[in-house]
Amino acid sequence: MKSAINWLETSYGPENEQSTQRAVDNMEATASTILVVDDDVRMTQSVRELLAAYGYSSMTAGGGEEALRVLAEHDIDLMLLDLNMPGVDGYQVMRQVAEHHPGTDIVVISGETTFESATEALRNGAQDFLRKPYAPDRLIQILNGVLHKQRLEQNIREVNQRLEASENRYRFIVNNSPDIIYMLDDEGRFAFVNDRVTGLLGYKPEEILGKHYSELVHKEDLEKARYAFDERRTGVRASHDIELRLLCKDTSLPYRYFESRSITIELNAMGMYQKKHSGDDKGFFGTYGVARDISERKRAEEIINFQLYHDLLTNLPNRALFRDRLNLAISQARRQDSQLAVMFLDMDRFKVINDSLGHLAGDQLLQAVAGRLTTCLRDSDTLARVGGDEFNLLIPDITGREDAVMIATKIFDQLKQPVQLEGHEVFVSFSIGIALFPQDGASMEVLIKNADMAMYHTKSHGKNGYEFFSDNMKGLFQQQLSMENSIRRALDGNQFELFYQPQMEVSSGRICGMEALLRWHHPERGLLLPDDFIPLSEESQLIIRIGNWVLEAACRELRKWIKAGLDDIILAVNISAAQLEQQGFVDGILEKLKRYGVPGNRLELEITENVLMHDMDKAVSKLRKLAAHGVRVAVDDFGVGYSSLGYLKSLPLNTLKIDRSFISEIRSSQDRNSIVTAIIAMARELNLEIVAEGVENQGQMDYLRALNCCKAQGYLLGYPVSAKEARQALKEHKH
Ligand code: C2E
Ligand code: MG
Ligand code: MG
Repeated sequence: MKSAINWLETSYGPENEQSTQRAVDNMEATASTILVVDDDVRMTQSVRELLAAYGYSSMTAGGGEEALRVLAEHDIDLMLLDLNMPGVDGYQVMRQVAEHHPGTDIVVISGETTFESATEALRNGAQDFLRKPYAPDRLIQILNGVLHKQRLEQNIREVNQRLEASENRYRFIVNNSPDIIYMLDDEGRFAFVNDRVTGLLGYKPEEILGKHYSELVHKEDLEKARYAFDERRTGVRASHDIELRLLCKDTSLPYRYFESRSITIELNAMGMYQKKHSGDDKGFFGTYGVARDISERKRAEEIINFQLYHDLLTNLPNRALFRDRLNLAISQARRQDSQLAVMFLDMDRFKVINDSLGHLAGDQLLQAVAGRLTTCLRDSDTLARVGGDEFNLLIPDITGREDAVMIATKIFDQLKQPVQLEGHEVFVSFSIGIALFPQDGASMEVLIKNADMAMYHTKSHGKNGYEFFSDNMKGLFQQQLSMENSIRRALDGNQFELFYQPQMEVSSGRICGMEALLRWHHPERGLLLPDDFIPLSEESQLIIRIGNWVLEAACRELRKWIKAGLDDIILAVNISAAQLEQQGFVDGILEKLKRYGVPGNRLELEITENVLMHDMDKAVSKLRKLAAHGVRVAVDDFGVGYSSLGYLKSLPLNTLKIDRSFISEIRSSQDRNSIVTAIIAMARELNLEIVAEGVENQGQMDYLRALNCCKAQGYLLGYPVSAKEARQALKEHKH
C-alpha cells in the first residue's frame, strides 16, 4: 500500500550535529542510488546537500529529459521528482518509470498544492508526495521509509527465491526418487503422487490424482490394500509393509509365464494426522506412503518357485507339486464326498526312441507329448511329469469311472497323429493305469502306487491302453518285478523254445513257410505266451538277448530243414524295435546265416509298422543291407498301425501280413470286406505277397481264395507246434 500524503508546510535547515551523526551511520548502511530531478538548480542543490548530510549520495537532473537519460544509464532506487518542469514534466517521467523502471520508487516534491495534483502523482506511481517548501526532516523521514520498504521487499524477494529454490530442490528429489511417493486423502483418493509413477506404471500423475487407490490395485490384492489403508481408522496407527500389485496403464503388455502384468510393490503406508482446529483431537488426514518397485525380486522369486515345483523341460508341475495338489484334492473330495482319479501314464518304448534318435529328439518328443496331453484336460486337472517318460494325472471331482475313461480315450485320440521330430514321424503310445478315490486307496501314496501298478499291468498286456486298478493286481505286480530276473535265468537255463506255425499258399494248399513263435517254459507258471513277457522285456532291453536267442534257434532250425531236404520253406522270425535299432543287428544276422550255411532268402523278418516308424531312415538302410543278401522282410500286423503308407515303397519289402482283426471280421465267403479287399489289391500293385493272419474257418479261407490272396496262416491251417512236430509235418506234407 502506498503511504499517505504528507502535507508539510515548513522547511528548515538540515544541519544539526545529531543528524550529521545519523547520516554517517546511514552512509555505510545504504548504497541506494537517489536521483533528484528539478528544473530549479537551487532546489536540486539544496536537496543534494541535505541528502549528503544524511549520508545519501545522489545524482541530479535539471529536467525530465535529463532524468530519463540518467535512468537509462543507472539503476536508480529512488527519484525525488518535481512535477512542473518545462519539456518533459514529472507526470511523463512517472509514466516512463512505471513502464520501464519498475524498480525505481518515486517521491514527488512539488510546488503544486492541489489535492488533485497529489492524487494524480500517487496514481502515477509515486510513493509519496511532499510539498515545497519541504521540511528537511520530513523528506529524510519519507526517504528512509521508502528505502526501508525497498530493503524489506528485496529481503522478501530473496527469501522467496530461496524458498523457490528449496522447493525445486525437494520437488526434484521427490520426483526423481526411485520409488513412488504418494499421499491419499481420508477417502483413499490420491492427493499427491510423484512423477515416478509414470515410469513404473505408465500413468501421468494428473491422471491418478483424485482416483481411489482401488482403481490401481490388482483385484486380488484389494483386501490387503484395504487392510493397510483403511484399518487405521479403527485406531491402529502402525505403518504397514505390504506387497501389492499395481495395474499398469497399458493392459496389453504381453503375458509371460513368470510375469504378472501388474507391478508388485511394497507399500510402506502410514497414517498422517493433523491437529483439528477445535480441541486436541487428532483427525485422520490421509496416507503417506512410499511404494517400491520390487517386480524384479518378485520375478526372481517366482522363477525360483516355479523351478521348485515344475519340470523345466515341459513346464508341467513336478512330482512335489503333484503330490501337494493330490493331497488337497483328497481332503476336498473327502469333505464333499466326491470321487477323483489318479492316472499313471508311461510312454511305451520311450527309451528306444531316446537311444536311437538322440536325447535332443527325446526332449522334443516329451515336450510335444506334454502339449498334447494338456489339451485333453480341464483347468482343474493336474498333469505332472514325475520321471523320464512318466506322467501323473489328477482328475478331481469325477462322477465315476466313465469320466476317467473319457479322458483316457481323449488322450489316445490325441496321440493318433505322429509327432514330427527332425524329419521323423514318431508314433507315441502310452500305458495308463488308473486308481480311483476312495475305492482304490484313501491316501495319496496308495493311490499313486496303485495307479502305477495298474499301469504296469497295461504294459504287460501289450501296452497302448489303460487299465483300472483292481485288488488282484497286487500279486501280479510282484510277479512282474521278479520277471526280469526270471527272464535272465530263462535265457541261461534253456527255458525258451520256438514253436512253428505253418503258412499256406491259398491257391495250392501247399505249406510254403513257417512262423517262429516264442514260448517260455516257466518253472512255476508253466507255458507262457509272448504277450506275457515280450512287452516287459522290451522295456528292459532284455529283448535284445531274447531276440538273439530266437535268431540263433531259427537259423539252427533252418539248417536242419535244409539237411532234411525241405529246401523251399521260408522261416519267418518276429523282430522287435530294440533289436532293429541295435548297432550290430545286420552283422549279427549275416554272421548266423553264414555260420549255419543258410541262404538269406530262407529267412523272413517280421516287423510291425510301429517298429519301422521309430527311425525310418536307419531301418531302411539296415533292411536294404540285409535284402542285398536275400533276406526277406514282412510287415506284421499290417493295418493296425497309424502309419501313412508312404514307407511301403522305400522299404525292401516282400510280404504284408494282414492283421488278424481284419480276417476275423470276415464271417463268410460272401462277405464284402472292403479293407481286406483293398489291402490285397494294393499289395498286388506293389508286387508284394500277402499273408492273411488268423484264419480260423473255412468261410474266411474261401473268401481269401476268391480274392486271389496268396498266403494264409491260422488255426484252421495249423496251430503253432514244437520244432519236432513242425519238421514232421513238413516232411509229411512234402510227400
Ligand atoms: P504275431 O507275429 O502276429 O504272431 C501271430 C500270433 O497270432 C501268434 O501268437 C499266434 O499264435 C497267433 N495266431 C495264429 N493263428 C491264429 C488264429 O487263427 N487265431 C488266433 N486268435 N491267433 C492266432 P503268439 O505266439 O502268442 O505271439 C504273439 C505275438 O508275440 C506275435 O504276434 C509276435 O508279435 C510276438 N512274438 C512271438 N514270438 C516272438 C519272438 O520270437 N520275438 C518277438 N520279438 N516277438 C515275438
Ligand atoms: Mg509275426
Ligand atoms: Mg501278426
